[in-house]
Amino acid sequence: MSTQAVLPRTTSRSQELFDRARAVVPGGVNSPVRAFGAVGGTPRFMTSASGAWLTDADGRRYLDLICSWGPMILGHGHPAVADAVREAAARGTSFGTPTESEVTLAEEIVRRVAPVEKVRLVSSGTEATMSAIRLARGFTGRRKVIKFAGCYHGHVDALLAQAGSGVATLGLPDSPGVTGATAEDTIVLAYNDLPAVAAAFAAAGDEIACVITEAAPGNMGVVPPAPGFNAGLHELCRRHGALLISDEVMTGFRAAAAGHWELDGARESWHPDLLTFGKVMGGGFPAAAFGGRADVMAHLAPEGPVYQAGTLSGNPVATAAGLATLQACTPDVYAHLNRTADTISGLVSAALDTQGVAHRVQRAGTLFSVFFTDAPVTTYAQARATDTFRYPPFFHSLLDQGVYLPPSPYEAWFVSAAHDDAALDHLAAALPAAARAAAASPEGDTR
Ligand SMILES: *Cc1c(COP(=O)(O)O)cnc(C)c1O
Repeated sequence: MSTQAVLPRTTSRSQELFDRARAVVPGGVNSPVRAFGAVGGTPRFMTSASGAWLTDADGRRYLDLICSWGPMILGHGHPAVADAVREAAARGTSFGTPTESEVTLAEEIVRRVAPVEKVRLVSSGTEATMSAIRLARGFTGRRKVIKFAGCYHGHVDALLAQAGSGVATLGLPDSPGVTGATAEDTIVLAYNDLPAVAAAFAAAGDEIACVITEAAPGNMGVVPPAPGFNAGLHELCRRHGALLISDEVMTGFRAAAAGHWELDGARESWHPDLLTFGKVMGGGFPAAAFGGRADVMAHLAPEGPVYQAGTLSGNPVATAAGLATLQACTPDVYAHLNRTADTISGLVSAALDTQGVAHRVQRAGTLFSVFFTDAPVTTYAQARATDTFRYPPFFHSLLDQGVYLPPSPYEAWFVSAAHDDAALDHLAAALPAAARAAAASPEGDTR
């Protein structure tokens, strides 16, 4: 699929739409990182997508390496998902009653992820982590929450302290609007620092309701857990009567078939108490979930006293899309994603090596991202100390050549079942110029 010959050079239609958007929407976007603040330039307004390719309002085509930040694991417009959505929508888009498709989706999640005995469907990852924290506090009768710097769990008040993702991109220290009282109950520790977690438990163990962690962080770039880190968290929580919440909103059904848990917990025989999901399980629609131990989940209303609800929770169109997506995510799909991640990592490294640009590709299952540094990145502080000034020119060179990377150095790259040889050839052709741009970037220039 050769696209370069027909690419219009202009971005005037996107610029026009961005101007209109800024007049009525704060910053012109409905989620901050989309505004290109970290890379500069005009955000592209997309009009359609097919397979591994996006088309913008000016008719430019891009190889998509975001996949809607994870959900489009099968590629855009997958026939099984599109059919399921059309059929569900034709039957009715929302009833406000229980439906069979939410039961089937819940069964599929329970079948895939052994630690999930019961699951509650919600509409966003933020809702999932917020509800999981409330449940952990309700179950334990404790207030405090341990989170890790650089881990993003959605825009939950108590979890915005030193969060990754857009908060990292914009360099916000913490968010105004989050009250001192809310933040006070949040203990923020360095990622991968088990002794710090042990010390926090030693100091206030009987006040700590839960530890929440990304199963493998992907919102400060991909920073895999050190061997034994997640197992160590699980053991500390068990010993002190706290719950371990593993946030698999990004990694769930993506890092591997059963999420990142498959890559550590399943092999080491430990279970998080609660897990959160989103992104892939919605198949491109607003669907997310939290679930885990049946005795903990029994504390949720209407079975128990911890309130949680949602007008559109378990929406029939969203659950149909999610179910069709999970059903099409076969072992072959994960094998393909892994091979594709290997290939892209190799191509990127080769191009950057040729230009002598220090970098590391870090990996967690099928997830990966590129850091401009020569040392391993194991914490948020290290992620922030990388040569992020190289990212904007690298990003824009690829964008100009029809490759759409995440518009931030702190985000994972996502591939899909539709990323075929033609897609990889297109990327391979674009990388040498991007690597030259990264090499030429003057230090200190972060735009
Ligand atoms: C995306 C993400 C969230 C938030 O999900 P939304 O659907 O954007 O609210 C939470 N946790 C992690 C790990 C995520 O990657």
